Amino acid sequence: MTTERPAVLQPEMPPTRWGDPAHPVGLPDGVRDLVGLVFDIRDTPARADVVLAAPRLGDAALAALRAAVGEAHVVTDDGLRRHRTRGKSTPDLLRQRAGDLSDAPDVVVRPAGHDEVVAVLAVAQEHRIAVVPFGGGTAVTGGLVADAAGLAGVVSLDLGRMRGLLAVDPVSSTATLEPGLRGPEAEALLAGHGLMLGHFPQSFEYATIGGFAATRSSGQSSAGYGRFDAMVVGLRVATPAGEVRLGSAPANASGPDLRELFLGSEGAFGVITEVTVRVRPLPEVKEYEGWRWASFAEGADAMRVLAQSDLLPTVLRLSDENETAINLADPSGIGGESAAGCLMITGYEGTPEAVAAKRAAVTAVLTGLGGTALGREPGEAWASGRFGAPYLRDNLLDVGVLVETLETATFWSNRQNLYDRVKAALTAELGEGTMVLCHVSHVYATGCSLYFTVATPAGDDPLERWLPAKAAACEAIVASGAAITHHHAVGTDHKPYLTAEIGEVGAAVLRAVKQAVDPAGVLNPGVLIP
Ligand SMILES: Cc1cc2nc3c(=O)[nH]c(=O)nc-3n(C[C@H](O)[C@H](O)[C@H](O)COP(=O)(O)OP(=O)(O)OC[C@H]3O[C@@H](n4cnc5c(N)ncnc54)[C@H](O)[C@@H]3O)c2cc1C
Repeated sequence: MTTERPAVLQPEMPPTRWGDPAHPVGLPDGVRDLVGLVFDIRDTPARADVVLAAPRLGDAALAALRAAVGEAHVVTDDGLRRHRTRGKSTPDLLRQRAGDLSDAPDVVVRPAGHDEVVAVLAVAQEHRIAVVPFGGGTAVTGGLVADAAGLAGVVSLDLGRMRGLLAVDPVSSTATLEPGLRGPEAEALLAGHGLMLGHFPQSFEYATIGGFAATRSSGQSSAGYGRFDAMVVGLRVATPAGEVRLGSAPANASGPDLRELFLGSEGAFGVITEVTVRVRPLPEVKEYEGWRWASFAEGADAMRVLAQSDLLPTVLRLSDENETAINLADPSGIGGESAAGCLMITGYEGTPEAVAAKRAAVTAVLTGLGGTALGREPGEAWASGRFGAPYLRDNLLDVGVLVETLETATFWSNRQNLYDRVKAALTAELGEGTMVLCHVSHVYATGCSLYFTVATPAGDDPLERWLPAKAAACEAIVASGAAITHHHAVGTDHKPYLTAEIGEVGAAVLRAVKQAVDPAGVLNPGVLIP
């Protein structure tokens, strides 16, 4: 088949904010009043007087890059370099708002396909330039901040021209996608074939297929459709040492599964140029509903029972008491006295028969465990607002309220311990007036992921407030024996904690792979590898 391209491209995000630039800015009056009851709000606009340092690359390197991808696709102007600076964590946004562009790439290079990526990597090796693959730019753990020490400069390898659906195999239920396709673009192309991927992280609007693979992302429908890495059946990767193609069969016993080396490699082992994914028919029916639990522990136990009974809905999430209360307080949120306690969302997608059967079975289990069915309204409210939180974060930053999230995962037997320790660490570090909210975001038969949201007064130096709190939370996670990240990836922010999780030998294995595929150390240096 010929390559299919999206009919509609997502517009560029503003550098200082999340998402679609057409999205309304500012808190609705009712919400602003509510926020003002809890926090001392004051307008904190971003600085406009931003100047970037001149690009460091010499004429020979720039000429070689132009020869690799064409003159029009080697961009050194301040505007695009600013847009390709860092990701979208709250510290990233705070630095952009403060006019700190010290991590800006020297040049943005936009290859059209695998061969041009290979050509760029050759130039990077020869001229000793760091290459940072840039997909959607939604990274939240410093994965787009290369350490260029000892190198001539930094190329942001913008994969935005590689946005095609390359192949569909309806018999095997697979599709091959280029890495720069953003979530909605990929789903729209697959929908043209009556198919879907089913990967819906909160960053869905902007994150890309390559980014999902490179960070081992997990979406809001992971209970039903699985994590992104579980959807990947094949990869094509350009490395400075040559091409790697993986996934010649649905499964194999051909030694260790090397796909796993490149999934989650965050641009440090190669540039993912094609991803073959498992696809499924578009669901005929989508039903979302709410359940109330007397406590977070009871709700979590019910999730464990469902997971261990192989009875997972497509969507399954549970807010703790604080997060439930905040949803209640939000006039555009879930609302209604009946949702007090802890709110669980269950969602079912598929054929009418499959949805009815799964829903009946789950309902019987949840009712038997003491859950109270709240009907469709809370579920539909969650579904319609599921991508809205990052816009709210910006609007809160605008009025001096710092909001950030972090996540981890552990076994069911350690869930309460992990929850208590992370919450205590954040509260102790940030002090009075801080809200710590949590939900169980992803579940497995053996355990779950906990996702924390923190809201606290930004103060005069929000980074100075947040960074020690984040460090305290990471230390609590390590001390609890949990994963330093379940789906946000390692980047630079979690790198100091990785060896505690994978051990010295594990870290040495990562370094050995890096040496094999990228001996000159030009691929995203400083990210991931301890
Ligand atoms: C508001 C918000 C909500 C989020 N919600 C979720 C969520 O629900 N679930 C979740 O899993 N994550 C979430 N994230 C994190 C982020 O969206 C994911 O990590 C996402 O997978 C990154 O994709 P991207 O295309 O934006 O990658 P980028 O941010 O562009 O890059 C991420 C990393 O991958 C590397 N990379 C990107 N593309 C390639 C490639 N083709 N080849 C090699 N390396 C590459 C980059 O160099 C970088 O190290 C959220 C982030 C934000 C800001």
